[in-house]
Amino acid sequence: MEKTVTIIGAGLAGCEAALTLANLGIKVTLIEAKPRQMSPAHHSDDFAEVVCSNSFKSNDPCTAGGLIKQELRILGSELIGFADSVRVPAGGALAVDRQKFSQLVTHSIKSNPNITVINKTVESVDLDKPTIIATGPLTHITFSEFLNEMFGKKMYFYDAAAPIVSKESVDFEHAFTASRYGKGEDDYVNCPLSRDEYYNFVTELLGAERASLHEFEKGEIFEGCMPVEVMASRGVDTLRFGPLKPVGIVDPKTNKRPFAVVQLRKENQSGSMLNVVGFQTNLKFMEQKRVFGLIPALKNAEFLKCGVMHKNMYIDAPNTINKHFVLKNHPNCFIAGQLSGVEGYVESIGSGLVAALNAYRTLQGKEYIELPECTMLGALASYLERPNQDFQPMNANFGLLPPLGEHVRDKALRKQALSDRAIEHMKILKSNLFSK
Ligand SMILES: Cc1cc2nc3c(=O)[nH]c(=O)nc-3n(C[C@H](O)[C@H](O)[C@H](O)COP(=O)(O)OP(=O)(O)OC[C@H]3O[C@@H](n4cnc5c(N)ncnc54)[C@H](O)[C@@H]3O)c2cc1C
Repeated sequence: MEKTVTIIGAGLAGCEAALTLANLGIKVTLIEAKPRQMSPAHHSDDFAEVVCSNSFKSNDPCTAGGLIKQELRILGSELIGFADSVRVPAGGALAVDRQKFSQLVTHSIKSNPNITVINKTVESVDLDKPTIIATGPLTHITFSEFLNEMFGKKMYFYDAAAPIVSKESVDFEHAFTASRYGKGEDDYVNCPLSRDEYYNFVTELLGAERASLHEFEKGEIFEGCMPVEVMASRGVDTLRFGPLKPVGIVDPKTNKRPFAVVQLRKENQSGSMLNVVGFQTNLKFMEQKRVFGLIPALKNAEFLKCGVMHKNMYIDAPNTINKHFVLKNHPNCFIAGQLSGVEGYVESIGSGLVAALNAYRTLQGKEYIELPECTMLGALASYLERPNQDFQPMNANFGLLPPLGEHVRDKALRKQALSDRAIEHMKILKSNLFSK
């Protein structure tokens, strides 16, 4: 068995994977298009470029972002270690000096005797050789066409996602489960709106602040999927004849058809995460919380994931890879980073680490590592492989975790308990990682 792994893309996932493998004694060939070819969002010659916000989100392990980082520290993540070392003051968040961060990663890669760097844009790859593909959400065109050909309809090129809220935060005093015309089994959570509530909602939606798109994103994204605020701008009643139409739905409280209805659909099998149907949006995150919070049932909703619209290349993970980040039909080829269907800087780093550990185990002729599902990293990986017709990239959030053995009513205590459980299991995994 060849003991060299080729990694394509020296971004967050690719660099984490390269350093992980190199530290385990594996020879790595890391191929990066920069600086010869830059995506519209990449500007620096250094590796592991932090392309937008310099925040890696909260450091508090009782938040989803903090927990996944803590798990990565336990597993010995190189990039989280670098991030910690170039931290800049940002309250409870881990924000980094992006330049120093990329410089540290680049130096560490270039000075590692097990890593050979090649500067070129990859256009195709032999999926049967030990490889980790981590070319990110802005993968260069020829390679993206190659991947598209390989995976057929299993590739996506932009992300137009509706927000996801936690079921436990929905106010069921103002919501009820039912399917339209009683077809199916009460599959939807329905959030009715009165006439006044509906028109007030539309007014606020139209006045809400939108996130700016990059020039390269404009035409492409809106062609594919219309944001709810754009649909609303076509006329005040457009939404109630569109995604908010109440036909076939009767509110059991009034025994009448509501004026308008926002529907929530299960995002995961347990139903702890609910997708706000038809609400793909380009509003700023704070505005989503404010405006969608005007829907009475969502007044105190916890947004596990906000809606987004941006260029984002990713695979249809459930049909393409498994929870070990390996291609179903090519056991030597792994996909990591945003391309694999995870969302976010830290999630991308995490997927790079897990893919590298599994590539290492493959070279050793050993079984893949089994991440406990009660860890954030394990839950995220499992989410990727679960059948899902409307697969959307996913960030770390507590809705992914299996519930505790016994219900803890207090939200803060519940998150503390979920976090403690995850950290304990991750420590056990780490202590057994190289013993078998
Ligand atoms: C515009 C934008 C803004 C974002 N903002 C945030 C944010 O604020 N917070 C957050 O958590 N997440 C954000 N994300 C999402 C995501 O976390 C980042 O994109 C993250 O960098 C993904 O890591 P990655 O390793 O998958 O890809 P990248 O970090 O993008 O790395 C991919 C690397 O592959 C190289 N490459 C591409 N194609 C080829 C090829 N054919 N051959 C060789 N090399 C190639 C690229 O040059 C790049 O260096 C953003 C994404 C985008 C597109």
